[in-house]
Amino acid sequence: MRINRTIFEDFIKADVGLEPYLRVGRVEFDMQRMIVNVRLELAPDAKLLCPICGKPAPRYDSRDRSWRHLDIFGRKCILHLKQPRLNCPTCGIKSWNPSWADAPHFTRGFVDNLADWCKTAPVLQVALRFGISDKTAASNLKIRAALRPDEDDE
Ligand SMILES: [Zn+2]
Repeated sequence: MRINRTIFEDFIKADVGLEPYLRVGRVEFDMQRMIVNVRLELAPDAKLLCPICGKPAPRYDSRDRSWRHLDIFGRKCILHLKQPRLNCPTCGIKSWNPSWADAPHFTRGFVDNLADWCKTAPVLQVALRFGISDKTAASNLKIRAALRPDEDDE
């Protein structure tokens, strides 16, 4: 299936809330595992801020990381990024975290969707629907509550 890359990039950027200096690279559909893999690329000249002190810091190295996002066309969608570590003169070597990555392996969109479902169904049932363990679901809900305690007060 051919997908217009520009439209798909615009869709992913808006849906995930990508930073302007992140672009969508290769998009592949893993037919065996039925997973949409989206490679994200960080602009080489992006000025990244230390996650501790908020000051600009040079890059140190990077590590392959992935985050599960909301399903696309009913299939799991995984975002991949070479996540940089920064060498902050004040704080030392720290991982730069994308703004949309709430949990270690899940995007904010995924965690919010999970939380919405858990308002109307038991965590175990929701976890089964999402294809994750109830322990992982509960962990994501705790992370969300800690990061955005006001979200569920509506
Ligand atoms: Zn710092």
